Amino acid sequence: MRKAGDVKMNMFDLSNKVAIVTGGNRGIGLAIARGFAGAGATVVIANRRAAEGEKAAEALRREGLNAVAIPTDVTKMDSVQSLVSKVVHDFGKIDILVNNAGLMVRKPVEEITEEDWDSVINTNLKGMFFCCQLIGREMIRNKRGRIINISSVRSRKIASNRSVYAISKAGVSNLTRVFAYEWGKHNITVNAIAPGTIITEFNQKHFEEHPDELAEIVKAIPRGRAGAPQDCVSAALFLASDASDFVTGHVLFADGGTTIC
Ligand code: NDP
Repeated sequence: MRKAGDVKMNMFDLSNKVAIVTGGNRGIGLAIARGFAGAGATVVIANRRAAEGEKAAEALRREGLNAVAIPTDVTKMDSVQSLVSKVVHDFGKIDILVNNAGLMVRKPVEEITEEDWDSVINTNLKGMFFCCQLIGREMIRNKRGRIINISSVRSRKIASNRSVYAISKAGVSNLTRVFAYEWGKHNITVNAIAPGTIITEFNQKHFEEHPDELAEIVKAIPRGRAGAPQDCVSAALFLASDASDFVTGHVLFADGGTTIC
Protein backbone atom coordinates (compact mmCIF):
# COMPACT_ATOMS: atom_id res chain seq x y z
CA MET A 1 0.00 0.00 0.00
CA ARG A 2 1.31 3.42 -0.94
CA LYS A 3 1.69 6.09 1.76
CA ALA A 4 0.83 9.78 1.38
CA GLY A 5 3.76 11.68 -0.10
CA ASP A 6 4.98 8.56 -1.87
CA VAL A 7 4.85 10.09 -5.35
CA LYS A 8 8.39 10.09 -6.62
CA MET A 9 9.71 10.67 -10.11
CA ASN A 10 10.98 7.09 -10.21
CA MET A 11 7.35 5.96 -10.37
CA PHE A 12 7.71 6.77 -14.07
CA ASP A 13 10.75 4.53 -14.43
CA LEU A 14 10.25 1.71 -16.95
CA SER A 15 13.54 -0.13 -16.37
CA ASN A 16 13.22 -3.89 -16.91
CA LYS A 17 9.85 -3.42 -18.59
CA VAL A 18 9.09 -4.85 -22.04
CA ALA A 19 6.76 -2.71 -24.16
CA ILE A 20 5.15 -3.43 -27.52
CA VAL A 21 4.13 -0.40 -29.60
CA THR A 22 2.06 -1.25 -32.67
CA GLY A 23 2.71 1.15 -35.54
CA GLY A 24 5.80 2.24 -33.64
CA ASN A 25 7.91 3.05 -36.69
CA ARG A 26 6.70 6.60 -37.18
CA GLY A 27 4.50 9.44 -35.94
CA ILE A 28 2.85 9.13 -32.53
CA GLY A 29 3.94 5.48 -32.12
CA LEU A 30 7.61 6.26 -32.67
CA ALA A 31 7.48 9.19 -30.22
CA ILE A 32 5.95 6.92 -27.56
CA ALA A 33 8.47 4.14 -28.33
CA ARG A 34 11.33 6.62 -27.90
CA GLY A 35 9.79 7.98 -24.68
CA PHE A 36 9.38 4.51 -23.17
CA ALA A 37 12.87 3.41 -24.19
CA GLY A 38 14.23 6.64 -22.71
CA ALA A 39 12.49 5.72 -19.44
CA GLY A 40 14.36 2.40 -19.46
CA ALA A 41 12.03 -0.02 -21.26
CA THR A 42 12.95 -2.48 -23.97
CA VAL A 43 10.69 -1.49 -26.82
CA VAL A 44 9.32 -3.74 -29.56
CA ILE A 45 8.21 -1.84 -32.65
CA ALA A 46 5.41 -3.80 -34.34
CA ASN A 47 4.33 -2.39 -37.68
CA ARG A 48 3.64 -3.96 -41.07
CA ARG A 49 6.58 -2.81 -43.18
CA ALA A 50 9.70 -4.67 -42.02
CA ALA A 51 12.27 -2.25 -43.44
CA GLU A 52 10.54 0.79 -41.90
CA GLY A 53 10.31 -0.89 -38.50
CA GLU A 54 13.95 -1.91 -38.56
CA LYS A 55 15.00 1.62 -39.57
CA ALA A 56 13.14 3.07 -36.55
CA ALA A 57 14.53 0.46 -34.13
CA GLU A 58 18.05 1.05 -35.48
CA ALA A 59 17.65 4.83 -34.97
CA LEU A 60 16.66 4.23 -31.32
CA ARG A 61 19.58 1.83 -30.79
CA ARG A 62 21.95 4.49 -32.15
CA GLU A 63 20.60 6.76 -29.38
CA GLY A 64 21.67 4.10 -26.85
CA LEU A 65 18.12 2.81 -26.32
CA ASN A 66 16.86 -0.79 -26.29
CA ALA A 67 14.63 -1.40 -29.31
CA VAL A 68 13.87 -4.15 -31.79
CA ALA A 69 11.40 -4.39 -34.65
CA ILE A 70 9.12 -7.36 -35.29
CA PRO A 71 7.03 -6.97 -38.47
CA THR A 72 3.37 -7.43 -37.55
CA ASP A 73 0.01 -6.94 -39.22
CA VAL A 74 -2.51 -6.25 -36.44
CA THR A 75 -5.42 -7.28 -38.68
CA LYS A 76 -4.08 -10.86 -38.83
CA MET A 77 -4.39 -12.93 -35.67
CA ASP A 78 -1.61 -15.34 -36.69
CA SER A 79 0.73 -12.37 -37.18
CA VAL A 80 -0.12 -11.00 -33.70
CA GLN A 81 0.26 -14.48 -32.15
CA SER A 82 3.67 -14.81 -33.79
CA LEU A 83 4.65 -11.38 -32.33
CA VAL A 84 3.62 -12.58 -28.86
CA SER A 85 5.63 -15.83 -29.21
CA LYS A 86 8.76 -14.00 -30.39
CA VAL A 87 8.63 -11.36 -27.65
CA VAL A 88 8.03 -13.92 -24.90
CA HIS A 89 10.80 -16.14 -26.32
CA ASP A 90 13.32 -13.28 -26.59
CA PHE A 91 12.42 -11.17 -23.53
CA GLY A 92 10.43 -13.52 -21.25
CA LYS A 93 7.34 -11.32 -20.75
CA ILE A 94 5.26 -8.39 -21.97
CA ASP A 95 4.57 -5.58 -19.49
CA ILE A 96 3.12 -2.83 -21.66
CA LEU A 97 1.10 -2.72 -24.87
CA VAL A 98 0.40 0.46 -26.83
CA ASN A 99 -2.28 -0.17 -29.46
CA ASN A 100 -1.34 2.68 -31.75
CA ALA A 101 -1.59 1.23 -35.29
CA GLY A 102 -4.41 2.95 -37.12
CA LEU A 103 -5.60 4.39 -40.37
CA MET A 104 -8.29 6.67 -41.80
CA VAL A 105 -10.23 6.88 -45.06
CA ARG A 106 -11.24 10.45 -45.94
CA LYS A 107 -14.50 10.40 -47.91
CA PRO A 108 -18.10 11.57 -47.49
CA VAL A 109 -20.38 8.87 -46.10
CA GLU A 110 -22.18 8.40 -49.42
CA GLU A 111 -18.92 7.28 -51.04
CA ILE A 112 -17.68 4.79 -48.42
CA THR A 113 -17.19 1.31 -49.89
CA GLU A 114 -17.28 -2.05 -48.14
CA GLU A 115 -13.51 -2.21 -48.63
CA ASP A 116 -13.06 1.19 -46.90
CA TRP A 117 -15.21 0.02 -44.00
CA ASP A 118 -13.31 -3.27 -43.63
CA SER A 119 -9.83 -1.74 -43.79
CA VAL A 120 -10.57 0.90 -41.12
CA ILE A 121 -12.60 -1.33 -38.79
CA ASN A 122 -10.24 -4.28 -39.17
CA THR A 123 -7.22 -2.16 -38.27
CA ASN A 124 -8.58 0.28 -35.69
CA LEU A 125 -11.06 -1.97 -33.89
CA LYS A 126 -10.68 -5.68 -34.70
CA GLY A 127 -6.87 -5.38 -34.66
CA MET A 128 -6.99 -3.55 -31.35
CA PHE A 129 -9.37 -6.08 -29.78
CA PHE A 130 -7.22 -9.08 -30.69
CA CYS A 131 -3.93 -7.35 -29.77
CA CYS A 132 -5.49 -6.71 -26.34
CA GLN A 133 -6.70 -10.31 -26.12
CA LEU A 134 -3.59 -12.15 -27.35
CA ILE A 135 -1.00 -9.93 -25.68
CA GLY A 136 -3.19 -9.53 -22.59
CA ARG A 137 -3.23 -13.31 -22.06
CA GLU A 138 0.53 -13.06 -21.44
CA MET A 139 -0.10 -10.23 -18.98
CA ILE A 140 -2.68 -12.38 -17.18
CA ARG A 141 -0.05 -15.14 -16.87
CA ASN A 142 2.40 -12.52 -15.61
CA LYS A 143 -0.22 -11.13 -13.15
CA ARG A 144 0.48 -7.55 -14.28
CA GLY A 145 0.02 -5.35 -17.32
CA ARG A 146 -0.58 -1.92 -18.77
CA ILE A 147 -2.56 -1.46 -21.98
CA ILE A 148 -2.85 1.93 -23.69
CA ASN A 149 -5.17 2.27 -26.67
CA ILE A 150 -4.82 5.21 -29.03
CA SER A 151 -8.27 6.64 -29.68
CA SER A 152 -8.95 10.09 -31.17
CA VAL A 153 -10.71 13.35 -30.56
CA ARG A 154 -13.00 12.10 -33.38
CA SER A 155 -14.42 9.55 -30.93
CA ARG A 156 -16.29 12.52 -29.48
CA LYS A 157 -16.24 15.40 -31.99
CA ILE A 158 -17.66 14.72 -35.44
CA ALA A 159 -16.08 16.25 -38.54
CA SER A 160 -16.80 15.72 -42.23
CA ASN A 161 -15.18 12.95 -44.27
CA ARG A 162 -13.97 10.87 -41.31
CA SER A 163 -17.03 8.69 -40.76
CA VAL A 164 -15.74 5.12 -40.41
CA TYR A 165 -12.69 6.42 -38.55
CA ALA A 166 -14.88 8.28 -36.04
CA ILE A 167 -17.06 5.18 -35.60
CA SER A 168 -13.99 2.99 -35.02
CA LYS A 169 -12.49 5.39 -32.47
CA ALA A 170 -15.80 5.65 -30.57
CA GLY A 171 -15.61 1.85 -30.40
CA VAL A 172 -12.10 2.13 -28.95
CA SER A 173 -13.52 4.00 -25.94
CA ASN A 174 -15.91 1.18 -25.03
CA LEU A 175 -13.35 -1.50 -25.94
CA THR A 176 -11.08 0.17 -23.39
CA ARG A 177 -13.76 0.17 -20.69
CA VAL A 178 -14.75 -3.45 -21.40
CA PHE A 179 -11.17 -4.78 -21.04
CA ALA A 180 -10.54 -2.53 -18.02
CA TYR A 181 -13.66 -3.90 -16.33
CA GLU A 182 -12.88 -7.57 -16.97
CA TRP A 183 -9.13 -7.43 -16.32
CA GLY A 184 -8.86 -5.24 -13.23
CA LYS A 185 -8.80 -8.46 -11.22
CA HIS A 186 -5.71 -9.57 -13.16
CA ASN A 187 -3.78 -6.44 -12.13
CA ILE A 188 -4.02 -5.08 -15.67
CA THR A 189 -4.99 -1.48 -16.33
CA VAL A 190 -6.50 -0.53 -19.69
CA ASN A 191 -6.73 3.13 -20.66
CA ALA A 192 -6.92 5.19 -23.84
CA ILE A 193 -5.34 8.39 -25.07
CA ALA A 194 -7.46 10.43 -27.46
CA PRO A 195 -5.15 12.81 -29.31
CA GLY A 196 -6.39 15.93 -31.07
CA THR A 197 -4.91 16.94 -34.41
CA ILE A 198 -1.28 15.85 -34.39
CA ILE A 199 0.80 16.58 -37.48
CA THR A 200 2.26 13.31 -38.81
CA GLU A 201 2.38 11.40 -42.11
CA PHE A 202 -1.21 10.48 -41.26
CA ASN A 203 -2.42 13.99 -42.22
CA GLN A 204 0.55 16.10 -43.34
CA LYS A 205 -0.05 15.78 -47.09
CA HIS A 206 -3.78 16.35 -46.65
CA PHE A 207 -3.23 19.56 -44.67
CA GLU A 208 -0.57 20.78 -47.14
CA GLU A 209 -3.22 20.42 -49.84
CA HIS A 210 -5.98 21.92 -47.62
CA PRO A 211 -4.31 24.61 -45.46
CA ASP A 212 -7.69 26.30 -44.83
CA GLU A 213 -9.02 23.14 -43.18
CA LEU A 214 -6.02 23.04 -40.83
CA ALA A 215 -6.46 26.75 -40.03
CA GLU A 216 -10.14 26.11 -39.15
CA ILE A 217 -9.17 23.18 -36.90
CA VAL A 218 -6.47 25.17 -35.12
CA LYS A 219 -8.92 28.04 -34.57
CA ALA A 220 -11.05 25.61 -32.54
CA ILE A 221 -8.16 24.40 -30.34
CA PRO A 222 -8.10 26.42 -27.08
CA ARG A 223 -4.32 25.92 -26.76
CA GLY A 224 -4.02 27.66 -30.15
CA ARG A 225 -1.89 25.15 -32.02
CA ALA A 226 -1.94 21.72 -33.60
CA GLY A 227 -0.17 18.96 -31.69
CA ALA A 228 3.12 17.17 -32.30
CA PRO A 229 3.73 13.45 -31.61
CA GLN A 230 5.65 14.46 -28.48
CA ASP A 231 2.42 15.86 -27.02
CA CYS A 232 1.18 12.29 -26.47
CA VAL A 233 4.32 10.91 -24.82
CA SER A 234 3.99 12.04 -21.20
CA ALA A 235 0.35 10.89 -21.08
CA ALA A 236 1.47 7.46 -22.35
CA LEU A 237 4.34 7.36 -19.87
CA PHE A 238 1.94 8.08 -17.00
CA LEU A 239 -0.47 5.34 -18.11
CA ALA A 240 2.38 2.84 -18.60
CA SER A 241 3.98 3.45 -15.23
CA ASP A 242 3.35 2.62 -11.58
CA ALA A 243 2.09 6.20 -11.15
CA SER A 244 -1.27 5.28 -12.74
CA ASP A 245 -1.91 2.10 -10.74
CA PHE A 246 -5.48 3.09 -9.73
CA VAL A 247 -6.42 4.61 -13.11
CA THR A 248 -8.24 2.26 -15.47
CA GLY A 249 -10.96 2.48 -18.12
CA HIS A 250 -10.14 6.15 -18.64
CA VAL A 251 -9.92 8.06 -21.93
CA LEU A 252 -7.37 10.86 -21.58
CA PHE A 253 -7.83 13.60 -24.18
CA ALA A 254 -4.48 15.03 -25.33
CA ASP A 255 -6.18 17.54 -27.60
CA GLY A 256 -5.19 21.04 -26.53
CA GLY A 257 -8.73 21.48 -25.19
CA THR A 258 -10.60 20.71 -28.44
CA THR A 259 -13.28 18.70 -26.64
CA ILE A 260 -14.04 21.38 -24.03
CA CYS A 261 -16.71 22.73 -26.35
P1 NDP B 1 0.81 7.36 -39.03
O1 NDP B 1 -0.01 7.24 -40.27
O2 NDP B 1 2.00 8.26 -39.03
O3 NDP B 1 1.26 5.90 -38.54
C1 NDP B 1 0.37 4.83 -38.55
C2 NDP B 1 1.09 3.60 -38.10
O4 NDP B 1 0.17 2.52 -38.07
C3 NDP B 1 2.23 3.21 -39.03
O5 NDP B 1 3.33 2.85 -38.24
C4 NDP B 1 1.68 1.98 -39.74
O6 NDP B 1 2.68 1.02 -40.06
C5 NDP B 1 0.80 1.39 -38.65
N1 NDP B 1 -0.18 0.45 -39.17
C6 NDP B 1 -1.24 0.70 -39.97
N2 NDP B 1 -1.91 -0.43 -40.24
C7 NDP B 1 -1.26 -1.42 -39.57
C8 NDP B 1 -1.45 -2.81 -39.44
N3 NDP B 1 -2.46 -3.45 -40.05
N4 NDP B 1 -0.60 -3.52 -38.67
C9 NDP B 1 0.44 -2.91 -38.04
N5 NDP B 1 0.69 -1.60 -38.15
C10 NDP B 1 -0.14 -0.86 -38.90
O7 NDP B 1 -0.25 7.79 -37.90
P2 NDP B 1 -0.13 8.64 -36.55
O8 NDP B 1 1.16 8.43 -35.90
O9 NDP B 1 -0.60 10.01 -36.82
O10 NDP B 1 -1.32 7.94 -35.72
C11 NDP B 1 -1.09 6.89 -34.81
C12 NDP B 1 -2.39 6.61 -34.10
O11 NDP B 1 -2.90 7.81 -33.53
C13 NDP B 1 -3.50 6.06 -35.01
O12 NDP B 1 -4.26 5.12 -34.31
C14 NDP B 1 -4.35 7.30 -35.28
O13 NDP B 1 -5.68 6.97 -35.57
C15 NDP B 1 -4.23 8.02 -33.96
N6 NDP B 1 -4.51 9.45 -34.02
C16 NDP B 1 -3.79 10.27 -34.84
C17 NDP B 1 -4.09 11.61 -34.87
C18 NDP B 1 -3.35 12.57 -35.74
O14 NDP B 1 -3.84 13.71 -35.90
N7 NDP B 1 -2.21 12.20 -36.32
C19 NDP B 1 -5.19 12.18 -34.05
C20 NDP B 1 -5.85 11.22 -33.24
C21 NDP B 1 -5.53 9.91 -33.23
P3 NDP B 1 3.29 0.88 -41.54
O15 NDP B 1 4.15 2.09 -41.71
O16 NDP B 1 4.05 -0.40 -41.52
O17 NDP B 1 2.11 0.87 -42.48
